[in-house]
This record gives sequence, structure tokens and C-alpha cells, in this order.
Amino acid sequence: MTVEAQKETRGFQTEAKQLLHLMIHSLYSNREIFLRELVSNASDAADKLRFQALSDSGLYEDDSELAIRIDFDKEAKTVTISDNGIGMNRDEVVEHLGTIAKSGTAQFLDNLSGDDKKDSQLIGQFGVGFYSAFIVADRVEVFSRRAGDAASEGVHWECTGEAEFTVESVEKADRGTSIVLHLKSDAEEFADGWRLRSVIKKYSDHISLPVIMKKEAAGEEEEKSEPEDETINSATALWTRSRSDVSEDEYKEFYKHVSHDFEDPLKWSHNRVEGKLDYTSLLYIPAKAPFDLYNRDASRGLKLYVQRTFIMDDAEQFLPMYLRFIKGVVDSNDLSLNVSREILQKDPNIDAMRAALTKRVLDMLSKMAKNSPEDYAKFWEAFGEVLKEGPAEDFANREKVASLLRFSSTHTDKSDQNQSLDEYIERMKDGQDKIYYVAAENFNTAKNSPHLEALRKKDIEVLLLSDRVDEWLMGHLVDYKEKQFQDVGKGQLDLGELDTDEDKKAQEESAKQHEDLVKRVQDVLEARVDNVRVTNRLTESPACLVVGEQDMGAQMRRILEQAGQAVPESKPVFEVNPEHPLVVKLDQEADEDRFADLANILFDQAHLAEGGSLDDPAAYVAKLNKLLLELSN
Ligand code: ADP
Repeated sequence: MTVEAQKETRGFQTEAKQLLHLMIHSLYSNREIFLRELVSNASDAADKLRFQALSDSGLYEDDSELAIRIDFDKEAKTVTISDNGIGMNRDEVVEHLGTIAKSGTAQFLDNLSGDDKKDSQLIGQFGVGFYSAFIVADRVEVFSRRAGDAASEGVHWECTGEAEFTVESVEKADRGTSIVLHLKSDAEEFADGWRLRSVIKKYSDHISLPVIMKKEAAGEEEEKSEPEDETINSATALWTRSRSDVSEDEYKEFYKHVSHDFEDPLKWSHNRVEGKLDYTSLLYIPAKAPFDLYNRDASRGLKLYVQRTFIMDDAEQFLPMYLRFIKGVVDSNDLSLNVSREILQKDPNIDAMRAALTKRVLDMLSKMAKNSPEDYAKFWEAFGEVLKEGPAEDFANREKVASLLRFSSTHTDKSDQNQSLDEYIERMKDGQDKIYYVAAENFNTAKNSPHLEALRKKDIEVLLLSDRVDEWLMGHLVDYKEKQFQDVGKGQLDLGELDTDEDKKAQEESAKQHEDLVKRVQDVLEARVDNVRVTNRLTESPACLVVGEQDMGAQMRRILEQAGQAVPESKPVFEVNPEHPLVVKLDQEADEDRFADLANILFDQAHLAEGGSLDDPAAYVAKLNKLLLELSN
């Protein structure tokens, strides 16, 4: 016996230990999902074999009928799941089933809520499916041999607890993997043909491989002869069936298989395209965001098949980045079987498919928004911020994506983002030609922004933006249905025809009347402001800051500064409201020192009111306290 062949005991990696502990001790609801996970792995192993055999048919070893077998033994209390897929060699077994250091594992553990039901739903999403075996078994054995390896290169893996596993080399004549589950005493119900059949039907019917079991013996007499095999599932690739032949439940189960999500999808779209291009797509909109939605390196994309042969997971060329939450399958009849990621990137047919699939998804979303607003609200909650990346990434579909966006606005003054641009336009005032918005760090700052005062008074609706991507989004949106977007915190507030001649006249007069005041404030704040002027924005507040027309918005500036990026220096315009009693007082102040203190305080307050932080807060506090003392004297 070589050293290799000897039995070796190894410790699990810490995270694997925690995971096992969880499976063994705390998951009691929905236990039957272990079978779905193991069948799904077996099916993936068959896909991998088929793919590798495209360039090396010897891997089939004269056995190209791929299938999954489920056996059970009532006496021994075991269930065995076998496949003749790609199999694993000794190193792979250790790597995949033992010392896993997969990115998902740690995040899975971080995401645990302690709620058994919720946690069990996370298992699949984090790619820790194999360990679900321990939901029902306290001892698990794996026998495996990689396709193409010698029979003597089989491997036996065994684990009885949370701390360690053993591996040894064994003879294994047939290629592939067998997993033997030694059931826990409270899970013996699964060593039963009817129970297993119903679970397979429920979760694995759509698997394109046959799932085979021994026929149940009908009576005593038949027990002597070996019962025949039967195929339990439909065993055709679900997307090749016609829509009318697939039930809702089958679509949902298939979604869970491709997405590793445990929740039902919100919607799906299944289509066959024939003509210049010939392909089938089945696209799903999930109900919940995955934990790594904002991780640039996270896997995304569709499962790619060519003529029903699995080619690759995460084919990201078929959809733009802002639709990365879409799960599903695309099966092409045009692509070559040895297509690679590099080829996909260059193929002009892929661009055409990508454009068509993008349109398909956007149409699906439009329909959902129109016909099932409740689902759309869920979608928006989960993926709205990602969709907001769309106008920047996908110029051609800018208007279409914009129609799918939802916002908070002064129409409701609620933080729920549920107002569409079309609804906004419908409510626009006569003579209004712009879509007004304010962007701030959070909803309350946006809602209470002094920049809104004049618009509120005139009952003009303003979109309240506070997501991190918002200012960036608005930088690319520019207009919608020929209506320009206007940041109410930038430049001169131009209300167009909404300002009456009287308004304009009053403004001009006020500006003239307060020329002196403006000049004095300007002199005092010279180092801090670009310009000072009389406002037409404010009705309640004494003063506010305005960003120059071409300058970066305050929210964007703060985000970049927080990220440690250099932001070009630009000073704000300071607008004062001469109607406000504090400004009236300021105007009357003869003592130049006190005038300067008060002007600086108003300037700092305007900064605070829009969610900014002061460069020198202590100086502000000192000035304010001085004034307060004078007041009380
Ligand atoms: P996931 O399937 O999400 O990667 P699992 O924990 O279910 O996570 O499986 C870990 C790895 O073990 C798989 O990625 C695969 O490489 C390997 N594996 C599991 N089951 C099988 C099998 N039946 N045949 C071959 N490899 C398998």
C-alpha cells in the first residue's frame, strides 16, 4: 500500500466546522431539501462530464448514458445518491468537501439570523449545498472516482461529526460519485421509497438527467426477483419544453436549481427565438437581492447551453451589468460547442442576443410594473439601486430604464420610492417644463431641504433623492420625455413660466433694495463663498448654499470625499432671504464684528442644514455661544 492510499484523518477548516455544527444541530424545518441539493450537485457533475467529453470522448469510458440513482436501505437506515458524472479525485474531494475556503461560507455564517427557517433558506444561496447532507445524516460517506482515472484511484471520504473527516484511496470500478447518508434517528422517514419519490418529484423533476430508483415491490411474491428500475422525473431539459407543458411549480423549482435561491422568483419569461439567430432563453427575476449584489467580482450571468449541452455557468456576456440580478438559462443553436468566454466577447451574434435579452428583461419589468405593482414594489426594494446604474451603462435603453425608475417625492413626502417619472409628468403644473429634484445624504435631509421652500409654496413637486447612486444617475439622465431634469440646489432657480411677472418684479426689486446687505456679507465671507445674492428659493429659512450650475453636487462631493478622493475646490453661492427676521437683524447690525459673526453663523448653518459638516465646528460653536450670551444679558 502506498502512503497515498493510507487512511488519513484531517480537520475541517473553521468555517466548515461551524457550518456542519449548524446543519447537524439546528436545521429542522424543510429538511427534505438535502435531496434537492445532492441531486443538483449530481446533475452539475454530469453537465461537467458532458462538457469535458466534447474534447475528450474517452472520459465516457463506454458509458455515456448519464443518470442519477437513488437507493435506500430500510434496515441499514441509509439513502445513497449516485451519479456517473465527472467524479472527484482525492485532492478534489479534500478540497471541495473538506477544507473549503469558499468566499460564500464566511458570508453565509455572517448572515445567519438564528431563525431556523430563514437560515435553512440561505444554504443553497451560499453554495454550501453538500453540507445539507448533515441535516438528515450523522455519518456521511462519499465514494468517488474522476472520469478517466484508473479504478484504483477511487477515493473514500467519511465524516461523522463536526471536527474531522477521513480520506483513503479505494478501488472504484465505475466513474462518478456515490454519497451514502447514514440517517439520524429522527430522519429515518427518508429511508422510504414513497417519501423519496415524492421529494424528487417535488424538487428535481426538471433535472434533465433521469433520476432512477428501483420500482417498489408490489407484493410478497415479487420480492424474490430483483425489481426493475424506473425513472422518477421528467428528465427533459425544462426550457426545451413548450410553455404550455410546464407548470408554475416546475418553473419555480427550476429557478431554485439554477439560482441556488430558496425563495420563489417574482417573474419569469420563457422564449424560443427562431430566424437569424436560434436560441431559447428562460429568464427569472428573483424576489430578494443576493448578499453579494454589490461585489464587483461576484458571479453573475446566465447558464449557457449549446444545443442542450451545458457549456458554462455565469456567462455574463448576455446581459448588461445593471441587470446582473437576472438568473436563468440561454440555450443557443448557433454557437459552436467549443465556445469560450473569449470567443463570446468577440462574437457579434452575442451582441444581438444581448440586445434582445436586455429588451426582454426590460419588457418583463414594464409589464410587472403595470400589472402587478405589489411585485414591482418588491422588485424595486431589492434591485432598484442596481437598475439606477442603467441609464449610465445602457444609453440605447436610457428612456426605457428611466420609465422603470421609482422615486420618493414631495407628492407623498414618504421615504418609499414608489413614484414614477410618468406619474410626475402627469402631475406637472401648467407651464412647468422641468422635472425638479433635490439630492441629499438621507431622506430627511432631502425632504427638509431649504432648497424646496419656494417650490413647496407653489405646490411644485420635487423628487427626493438620497441613494448613493442618485447624483451619478442624474448626471446621465439629463432628460425624460423631453423634460429636462433640474437640481433645485444648483444655479439660479429658474421656474420658467411658473414664475409670474409679479414674482419676477418683486425679486428684482428685492435684489436692488438689498444691494448693500449683499455687499457687506460678501466682504465678510469673501474667502468662503463664490458669490452672495438675494434668494428666490427660500420662504422659511434665513439662508442656503447653492452649487454653481457646472459644479459637482454636494452629495456627490461628500461621497467622493468620504472615499478619500481628491475633489476639485469649488465655493458655493450663498443666498440670503431678506424677509427672514434674522436677516433683517443682520441688515440692521451696525457693529461690524457682530455683523461678521452673524453672517458666518448663517453660512455655517446653511451648510449644516444640507447635511454637511463644518471645517471648524469649534469656531462656529464659540460664535454662537457669544451671541447667545449677549441675548441673555
Ligand atoms: P456548490 O455545489 O454550490 O459548489 P457544494 O458544497 O454543494 O457547493 O459542493 C462543493 C463542490 O463539491 C462542488 O462545487 C463540486 O466541485 C464538488 N461536488 C459536490 N458533489 C459532487 C458530485 N456529485 N460530483 C462531483 N463533484 C461534486
